[in-house]
Amino acid sequence: MTPTNRGALAFLAGQLDSIRAAGGFTRLRVLESACEPVSRVDGREVINLASNNYLGLANHPKLREAAIEAVKRYGAGSGAVRTISGTMSLHVQLEERIAAFKRTEASVVFQSGFAANAGTVAAILTSEDHIVSDELNHASIIDGCRLSRAKIHVFPHRDVVAAEQKLAALAGAAGRKLLITDGVFSMDGDIGPLAELTALAERYGAIMMVDDAHASGVLGRSGRGTVDHFGLHGRVDIQVGTLSKAVGVLGGYVCGSRDLIDYLHHRARPFLFSTSHPPAVAAACLAAFEILEQEPERIERLWANTARFRAALRSAGFNTGASETPIIPVMVGEAAKAHAFSRKLFENGLFATGIGFPTVPEGRARVRTIVTAAHTVEQLDRAAEILAACGREAGIA
Ligand code: PMP
Repeated sequence: MTPTNRGALAFLAGQLDSIRAAGGFTRLRVLESACEPVSRVDGREVINLASNNYLGLANHPKLREAAIEAVKRYGAGSGAVRTISGTMSLHVQLEERIAAFKRTEASVVFQSGFAANAGTVAAILTSEDHIVSDELNHASIIDGCRLSRAKIHVFPHRDVVAAEQKLAALAGAAGRKLLITDGVFSMDGDIGPLAELTALAERYGAIMMVDDAHASGVLGRSGRGTVDHFGLHGRVDIQVGTLSKAVGVLGGYVCGSRDLIDYLHHRARPFLFSTSHPPAVAAACLAAFEILEQEPERIERLWANTARFRAALRSAGFNTGASETPIIPVMVGEAAKAHAFSRKLFENGLFATGIGFPTVPEGRARVRTIVTAAHTVEQLDRAAEILAACGREAGIA
């Protein structure tokens, strides 16, 4: 093997030692089956509470068939970026479907939710502008904010009063203002105060943007997201969603006015400079939207499972933080302890990931569980039993 870490990269060994010393060094677990409520991971059958496959669509027969048909008809790859020759009819159909679903004029699909957030924020703002952003917004929003070079004003998590103070302080400032929040926060599972923030954006003339990665397919009628959940249609300028979570496949999208989408076609860098989705991805996403509209009972099951599982964890004595959605963290504190707890759970047949700094603030490490519509009541009850037994042993429950 060629020796690595010679010369200029030698500092990485020291960096890794610090990660190890902080208890944050982890190995990637390997999924050896499809993503299912009980999956095969690292040679073991485990109850999977570690995916974002909220509605159980990732391995749904209709999505699989749509993907296979698309490969047969259109091939494995699109061949180019969207703006050169990589816009296929399936991409256009998917965007029309998403815009209709979200009740907006238009939509544009990106390769991932990450690219949608980062590409959009960076495209619409410049160094003259201002961003008012929740402190727990997703990394892709933070990166987009940095790439835009706009001035970033962070407000404490879900603190509407503080957000208003930031906007009021900018009232006379030159430049555009963007107010931005996650719809559902990915590590805590709480819901952003979108109605109040939207009212503030209107009062202070700011652009309102929401990242509904974890709300699309989960909240609102047929999973239309937080804008629908709070009855804010027509008042939120930019809605981002993913195709990677409840939709079960891969990708991100932006919904809004026709002008916004036309502008992103010309200025969003991941759209301009990175190849479009393979046809199988677009076709599987189209099949997923069909199921979302035809089978609302999946969302009902997701919420019934969520209520049952959260109640079981609380009655076992766990601190599940501010969770209001299928994302249910079990708060642990130190990263090393969270990772050790996750390993113990795995040995006992439950896959739930330990999450520490920098994904969550230091001292707020946790094991995150995500319930899906596809889990049976028996699987969830068994998962809660494993958590309670291991939690008691580790002094967490
Ligand atoms: N926003 C939030 C809130 C997320 O949790 C994620 C996924 N971790 C993303 C955006 C990015 O989505 P994707 O995985 O499709 O890139």
